[in-house]
Amino acid sequence: MTVRFVEDARRAVLETAQELLAKGLVEGTSGNVSARMADGNICITPSSVDYRVMTLEDLVVITPGAEVVEGERQPSSEKHLHLACYAAFEEVGGVIHSHAVHATMFAVARKPLPAAIDEFTVYVGGDVAVTEYTPSGSVEMGVAAVKCLADRGAALLASHGMVAIGKSPADALHITAVVERTAEIVQGSMALGGPNPLPYKQNRDFAGVYQYMRTA
Ligand SMILES: [Zn+2]
Repeated sequence: MTVRFVEDARRAVLETAQELLAKGLVEGTSGNVSARMADGNICITPSSVDYRVMTLEDLVVITPGAEVVEGERQPSSEKHLHLACYAAFEEVGGVIHSHAVHATMFAVARKPLPAAIDEFTVYVGGDVAVTEYTPSGSVEMGVAAVKCLADRGAALLASHGMVAIGKSPADALHITAVVERTAEIVQGSMALGGPNPLPYKQNRDFAGVYQYMRTA
C-alpha cells in the first residue's frame, strides 16, 4: 500500500487530544497525539500545553527527521516514539502515547496484557507486549516500541505507559480505549481467579482480521 496520511491532520490531532482527555485516558499535559500529513511530515501535540486550552495554533509540524517546520512551540518530548512508528509502518496514520491508569499498571508490573476478551484481538491484534525498558523521550524508546508493534495496535512501555497506532488519531484513540478497558477488566478478574484464555483458533482468526483491517 502507499503511505497512509490523514486529511485535515491538525484538526484530527486536536480533536483526538481533547477526546483523550474527556475519556480520562490522559491527565493535564501528559500523553501526546500525532498524525501523518499528506506531505509526509507529522503534526504532533506540543510539550507542556494543557489539552483544555490547546488550539490548532499550538500544534507543531515536524519532519520525519524531527526538525520543526511549523509552530512556535516545542514538539512533544516523545516525538521520537511517534516518528519511529511512522517510519516503520507505512499503514500508520495516527499515533497516541498515553498513561492510562490500568494499562500503565501492567506496564509498571511489566506484565503483558492478555487478549482475554472476545473480539479484543480484532482491534488490537492479540496480547499486548511490554517493551524492553528505555528512558522517556529517548530514540531507543521508539526502537523498542516498533519491535512490539509489527502485528499489534498497541504496546506497553515498560515502567511508563502505552503507545497505540492506527489509521488515524481517532483509530489510535479507539485502540487506546479498548486496551485500557481490557486492562481494567483483566486486573479485576485476577481477584476472581484470573482470566480464562480464549480458544487458540478464535484469537488466531481474529488476528487475521486485525492484519487485514490494518492495511485495508
Ligand atoms: Zn509518557
